[in-house]
Amino acid sequence: MEAAGKPRVVVVGGGVAGSLLAKTMQGHADVVLLDPKDYLEIPWAELRSMVEPSFAERSLIYHKDYLTDATIVTSSAVNITESAVLTADGQSLAYDYLVVATGHAVTSPGSRAERLKEFQRDKGKIESSESVLIIGGGPTGVELAGEIVVDYPETKVTLVHRGPRLLEFVGDKASKKCLDWLTSKKVDVLLQQSVDLGSLSDSEKSYKTSGGETVMADSHFVCIGKPLSSSWLHGTILKESLDNKGRLMVEKDLRVKGYNNIFAIGDITDIPEIKQGYLAQKHALLVAKNLKLLIKGSPVSKLATYSTGYPVALISLGRNEGIAQLPFLTLSGCLPGRIKSRGLFVGKTRKEMGLNS
Ligand SMILES: Cc1cc2nc3c(=O)[nH]c(=O)nc-3n(C[C@H](O)[C@H](O)[C@H](O)COP(=O)(O)OP(=O)(O)OC[C@H]3O[C@@H](n4cnc5c(N)ncnc54)[C@H](O)[C@@H]3O)c2cc1C
Repeated sequence: MEAAGKPRVVVVGGGVAGSLLAKTMQGHADVVLLDPKDYLEIPWAELRSMVEPSFAERSLIYHKDYLTDATIVTSSAVNITESAVLTADGQSLAYDYLVVATGHAVTSPGSRAERLKEFQRDKGKIESSESVLIIGGGPTGVELAGEIVVDYPETKVTLVHRGPRLLEFVGDKASKKCLDWLTSKKVDVLLQQSVDLGSLSDSEKSYKTSGGETVMADSHFVCIGKPLSSSWLHGTILKESLDNKGRLMVEKDLRVKGYNNIFAIGDITDIPEIKQGYLAQKHALLVAKNLKLLIKGSPVSKLATYSTGYPVALISLGRNEGIAQLPFLTLSGCLPGRIKSRGLFVGKTRKEMGLNS
């Protein structure tokens, strides 16, 4: 399968999983990273950057800063054939091995400089608002509410969530602790209500909820979960490997079902576990190991297999507090805050990407 020289590994998606895989494989293969952004964004640092834009200087990492021996292609994948990935800007990237790591749909600008400007605008918007409406009570909405009430305690925050409880990806206990914390900070949490996104405008000051309530707010932030970035896979050779939720079905060794040279990692996979970045990183390291085995000539039967992770989750609530869902315990307050909320694992993630500072 491989041409003369090193085998070619194409990694589609430069998020938490794809970036680590590409970084780990450089030197062992001819690595190509395809991503529409010229940087890796550490997702769990996003909400701090909205109240402290300088924080993003370390959490938005140019791909070229950790990929010194790989090719970076700044575009999106639009198709996959048996031998190449086709990009939105008309390139054909031949592969011997392919790794799909497209996680969630891209909504951020392609350039790091533009993303930094977005954070400046967000901060300006928060600073100039006496009241803020947050739409969506998943991790993004909850963590944003936490950042605002801690940094701007005078700001009135209302959080509207369609579901029956906040943070539906974790257990009831963690949801309840989160609701109690937000309520203690005088956040108005409206559950089982939604706001019509189609009717929103930046000049809006009055918002009607589906429950018939009116929320007055100087500004709003839409924090609803992004869909998986898998719709583009429907026209590719991998269409039969998608499940009905648009996730790629994988074997225990993380090969995409039906293929020996195509792997999937991160949130795009159908692995039955909580979708978390530290697990996406585990997938990346396992697939790097398996690619190295295949490159050395090992048969597929000798590949390492993945064991699903515990449903551990850490949610930050401003700079000092948080909630930790551990295997047999759910904690809230300063202890989880000390683990996640102060530095948001930015130093740790940078170190994992081979960056010293
Ligand atoms: C607010 C919040 C807080 C979180 N906190 C934590 C935490 O504390 N700890 C933790 O472990 N996890 C946390 N998570 C979860 C974690 O962020 C995800 O599990 C992780 O980002 C998944 O990584 P991924 O690489 O699969 O996908 P992503 O990080 O979504 O990356 C996908 C990449 O694919 C690219 N892409 C998409 N479509 C295409 C295409 N067609 N062609 C090419 N490239 C494409 C995108 O540009 C992006 O770079 C948090 C998530 C959120 C939203």
